[in-house]
Amino acid sequence: MSFFNVKKIKKSYQGTAALREFSLNLDRGEFLSIVGESGSGKSTLLRIMAGLEVQDSGQVFLEKEEILNPKKKLVPGYDQVKLIHQDYHLLPNSTVLENIRRPLLQYDKSYAKVREEKLLEQFGLKEFRDRFPRQLSGGQQQKVAIAAALAIEPEVLLLDEPFSSLDTIQKHQLIDELGRMFKELKTTVIFVTHDLDDALRLTDNLIILKKGAVVQNGNSFDLCTNPESQYVARLFSPINAIPDQKNAFIRPNEVKLRSKGGLLGHVVDLRFLVHFNSLQIKLKESGQIWEVDDPQRKYQVGDRVYLQWEEKKVLRLLS
Ligand code: ADP
Repeated sequence: MSFFNVKKIKKSYQGTAALREFSLNLDRGEFLSIVGESGSGKSTLLRIMAGLEVQDSGQVFLEKEEILNPKKKLVPGYDQVKLIHQDYHLLPNSTVLENIRRPLLQYDKSYAKVREEKLLEQFGLKEFRDRFPRQLSGGQQQKVAIAAALAIEPEVLLLDEPFSSLDTIQKHQLIDELGRMFKELKTTVIFVTHDLDDALRLTDNLIILKKGAVVQNGNSFDLCTNPESQYVARLFSPINAIPDQKNAFIRPNEVKLRSKGGLLGHVVDLRFLVHFNSLQIKLKESGQIWEVDDPQRKYQVGDRVYLQWEEKKVLRLLS
């Protein structure tokens, strides 16, 4: 048995399935993202893992200990499994230090002191120790919340879209910092998000959840290069259907733009993006619109262009 086991969890609300049958085995120190669109069951799953929601069937184990749901446990939740969600509230009238200290109040004073100082140091919060939450940026507040959650050294940290309220720059900074820290601390972390990009920045391992069931899991490179469905393929980028071939698709970055030879089209629209121009190309024969990356920013609207690609880059996707 591995460190954290989730076994065949099912959950319905008023007859509608939120989780169809979810299983997961994590080793200690493993770090994983669960990606799914809104309503796919992510929050329900984390709440069940934390012992805060009653499942219809299935079990959760932390090593040999079963995580009991609120029906079976008087005080719901566990110190060893900590859940942080997007609007996790700090105490507004307590300082950073007091917020981090709060979970430690029932612990030995000298232990508490050591933990507080260590967390302030690890999270780069030393200079903010006497500030109130309102005197911090959103990213800093979220860091304090996570530091407080880690105060009593939980075995598993569950993060439910903890970055949703942050702007992109704050978010990327916090993700980078946390990623480094979790690796260092060897914390076992499950991160759920609707945003694939956030997941890719934080972890190598992904589970793709759709309507309460796992559609594919694996490392990010494999999922991107060998998706098993159009759904998973489209999470990473748009895909272009190859004319006259059934179930064959090519990604915008795998299409080469040439002045002769290949599939003829002309550029009907162009968007300037950070790393390339994104072209909309209307294919002459089929009339389909393709999306193609132009990293050299060579083409303009109206240009004729021939499209080529390598056979090995073609994605064959039945559904
Ligand atoms: P996610 O976190 O991926 O957005 P949720 O776990 O919140 O998904 O929800 C999964 C499904 O279960 C959704 O269809 C949602 O409407 C439903 N659901 C979640 N919580 C409740 C509840 N307390 N009562 C009824 N339906 C719920």
